[in-house]
Amino acid sequence: MKRIDIIVPAYNEAEGLDDFYKALCMTIDNLAYDFRILFVDDGSTDSTLEKCKAIEAADKRVGHIRLSRNFGHQAALTAGLDKAGGDAVITMDADLEHPPSTIPAFLDAWEKGAMVVTGIRKGQLHVRAFKRISSKGFYALFNRLSNVPGTIESADFRLLDRRVVEAIGRMREQSRFLRGMFAWAGFRQAVVQYEQGQRRVGTPGYTPAKSFKLALEALLSFSRTPLRISIYLGITVSMLAFLYGIYAMAQYFVFQRALPGWTSLAVLISFLSGIQLFTIGVLGEYLGQVLEEVKQRPLYIVEEESLPGEEKQTGNAAHTRGRIRVEDR
Ligand code: UDP
Ligand code: MG
Repeated sequence: MKRIDIIVPAYNEAEGLDDFYKALCMTIDNLAYDFRILFVDDGSTDSTLEKCKAIEAADKRVGHIRLSRNFGHQAALTAGLDKAGGDAVITMDADLEHPPSTIPAFLDAWEKGAMVVTGIRKGQLHVRAFKRISSKGFYALFNRLSNVPGTIESADFRLLDRRVVEAIGRMREQSRFLRGMFAWAGFRQAVVQYEQGQRRVGTPGYTPAKSFKLALEALLSFSRTPLRISIYLGITVSMLAFLYGIYAMAQYFVFQRALPGWTSLAVLISFLSGIQLFTIGVLGEYLGQVLEEVKQRPLYIVEEESLPGEEKQTGNAAHTRGRIRVEDR
């Protein structure tokens, strides 16, 4: 039987955790997979941890990780992905906004060969207008500026094949925008629509400030455009300065209208500021290179391979059981 690990980050979700667990069981108890549930308590200050332990005591399939403080949703998901085993991993929120009844559709798409199945909201009835608009705007901007266009607007409700989990596990960068990282990693993708449930109890752990920080991290870690601004500005200003220099010299030589000293000052100042912006831009380019290098991302990710002379594998074409290899530089 194939093993599916379900990762559930939870931050101050004590009130709703039992309901979530019950709803989840209603779905997974009827499916012919070996399910495990891993709660990641992201430094909750309420009794989330005790709730997890109570659920765990009554159900052998359940386990938990407790982070030492609140590290944030993306870090909690990463902790879960690092510990997960299984043939596929599902990540979902603990607040019932991600309905467990969507899980069979995820598994179905996976069995048909998709390696990343992303849940996308059908309509956004329960989301406040501000969040809806800012989210739309962010994805439009992100897909324009970033080097991973095609990042799907989604919450982190997703199924990942084991090979994708391994690949993402090798990306250890500090600012983690998982949605972008999955798009970057490639693999066969599929989407499944779901009707977003309503948060039953508790308050969203994502404050506007946290969302803003995530958006900023996403843009800075997947786009070098902000760094390029100064090189563009530098070129433009240099060019304008050059034209202004010609104008200033014309004032001096042709019309003889310039105050003594003004021409050389005007030319020098505009020329030098153009040069300065331009060299800052050049530094920015190097900084961008350094940023790429320190991330130490794998140069490429092999989805499957069959090398000459090796024993050939037969079997399930959609999911060859071969080991994935993430090649390092
Ligand atoms: N969460 C977390 N750490 C945080 C904030 C949120 O682990 O710092 C969890 C939270 O318990 C929930 C999921 O991440 O399971 C999504 O959070 P939330 O519902 O607040 O986000 P929203 O649905 O408003 O985007
Ligand atoms: Mg939520």
